[in-house]
Amino acid sequence: MSRVVSGIGMTSQRTRSRMIDRLRERGIRDQRVLAAIAAVPRHVFVEEALASRAYEDTALPLGFSQTISQPYIVARMIEVLHAGRDLGRTLEIGAGCGYQAAVLAQLTDEVYAVERIEPLLAKAKLNMRTIQQFKVRLKHADGQLGLPEAAPFDTIIVAAAAMCVPHALLQQLALGGKMLLPLGMGEQYLLLVERRAEGYVETRLDGVRFVPLLSGLE
Ligand code: SAH
Repeated sequence: MSRVVSGIGMTSQRTRSRMIDRLRERGIRDQRVLAAIAAVPRHVFVEEALASRAYEDTALPLGFSQTISQPYIVARMIEVLHAGRDLGRTLEIGAGCGYQAAVLAQLTDEVYAVERIEPLLAKAKLNMRTIQQFKVRLKHADGQLGLPEAAPFDTIIVAAAAMCVPHALLQQLALGGKMLLPLGMGEQYLLLVERRAEGYVETRLDGVRFVPLLSGLE
């Protein structure tokens, strides 16, 4: 627990509220999403050497060639998924060190998050204990296969870019559910997929930059 307060203190409070101001300036409007981001101490989730940069609106290295997502992207994706409804049962693919899962847990009681790199998952588990967040169910699994034992999901959020929408995720999306995922290799964009009675409806959104969605476990 000592890391939450040590060496950060009041500076953290100020830089944290500056980060929220920046998200607002960049167009994030959903107060519940802003409050959820404000409630999660991001410095716990970054390497100790980078803790002083934890509240900059930027992606930071996590180790294993992975990155902790940029707060704006986390806020933007959750805002899209949260629009006009509750998140409900939520699946995150690509938990990394658990930052986005912790933000999701501020907004819904049922969060499942899967990660394919075991040591990162272990970090995520440790981080959840540090911030006393016990709601998130973390699993070592290949997210391309979804999480059939907990399906269907009202919300699916993917934190790594695929070439096409994984079939298992479409199947595990509940009727009325929403999925948001980055697609593409060089040029990437966010794709919103809504499952309605008449079928799946896709909407192409912002250009983005994510690490690739990979197969298998490490
Ligand atoms: N959600 C994280 C972002 C982590 S970066 C955050 O809040 O900061 C994306 C993560 O997706 C990486 O940790 C990577 O290992 C993971 N990933 C890539 N392909 C995956 C797959 N098929 N299944 C599960 N995780 C995957």
